[in-house]
Amino acid sequence: MKKLRVGVLGATGMVGQRFISLLDGHPFFEVVVVAASPASAGKRYRQAVAKRWYMESPIPTRVGNLAVMAMENDFDRIVKEVDLVFSALDMDKEKIKQIEIRFAKAGIPVASNNSAHRWTVDVPMVMPEINQEHLKLIDVQRKNRGWTTGLIGVKPNCSIQSYVSILTALKRFEPTKVHVTSLQAISGAGKTFETWPEMADNLIPFIGGEELKSEREPMKIWGKMVDGKIKNARKPVIAATCIRVPATDGHMASVSVTFKRKPSRKQIVSAIESFNPLKNLRLPSSPKRFIKYLSDESRPQTRVDRNFEDGMGITMGRLREGKQFDWHFIALSHNTVRGAAGGAILMAELLYKKGYVESLAK
Ligand code: NAP
Repeated sequence: MKKLRVGVLGATGMVGQRFISLLDGHPFFEVVVVAASPASAGKRYRQAVAKRWYMESPIPTRVGNLAVMAMENDFDRIVKEVDLVFSALDMDKEKIKQIEIRFAKAGIPVASNNSAHRWTVDVPMVMPEINQEHLKLIDVQRKNRGWTTGLIGVKPNCSIQSYVSILTALKRFEPTKVHVTSLQAISGAGKTFETWPEMADNLIPFIGGEELKSEREPMKIWGKMVDGKIKNARKPVIAATCIRVPATDGHMASVSVTFKRKPSRKQIVSAIESFNPLKNLRLPSSPKRFIKYLSDESRPQTRVDRNFEDGMGITMGRLREGKQFDWHFIALSHNTVRGAAGGAILMAELLYKKGYVESLAK
């Protein structure tokens, strides 16, 4: 099979590096373009990330030799060389919006990790296991904008991955009220302990914009397509508190939930363990087991469990009955894999399977 040629925008950053490392040897996609800011442009990729390669595996040799392109100046060249781009830029949101539109308008599908277009009415915000039917919004988007091969699809925020997946698995019990406190790793801010030494022995009770995203984004994901638009869900009502904690990778969430029909412990564990709607599609990045319940009271732990199913799975533990809420539990997901690059790659695999992306090579 001929692989699609992909570009990674923001390839030198924390999420960009995760894209490069996850796409190494990918069966559908091959990285042919790496783009970043003018500070990195013109350098070989390996040189541009020399003192800041954060991944566990080495820089893939072929990508290491690519020259980093400048987003603005090399735009026309990038468009000619790729079939699809992944966006991992960190810059002004309005600028990102315009850049992503510019690619889509030029015929290039954009699978974005960025928040810029999450609330654009005709842009689907997709977690493939949960709302793959929202990809139909791309037909509306293309019609609205006169795009034929171009499109924009986004993935939601890293903070919501674990609890939204679990609550979806428990949907038939009708969750009505949720309180979540997320404990978010420093790579979520594109940082390490070297670049953010203040985080050693420290917690910071504020992450700009994160609580609103944690409360609102699930409502679009759980929304229904009605007359070519997404009608947001109203339930469950979510209240979120987001805290930065001294962990390198892995966002943990402490979740309290009340249901219309309170399930038993057995029903909860059975529902989450059997929930894997993508199983039959066999997408390369799709986990074999999506959500796993850990009965050991000290799990999940960030260092021990974040790489479950290569970072694409969700772990859950400490399920206990409450007095003010029906149930409490802890959930964990890998923020730069499931919550960022891996989630966007999984969405792109689904777009490919559904025929929304194709080879544009002449
Ligand atoms: P990062 O480490 O700061 O990387 C930012 C990237 O954007 C770098 O490649 C940088 O290039 C590039 N860039 C910055 N200014 C640019 C410009 N003017 N033109 C072209 N490229 C430019 O940030 P990150 O943590 O990877 O996050 C990237 C995006 O993903 C952000 O929007 C973030 O909110 C989102 N996100 C992150 C996570 C996570 O867990 N980290 C999870 C979900 C979503 P240079 O290296 O050349 O400066």
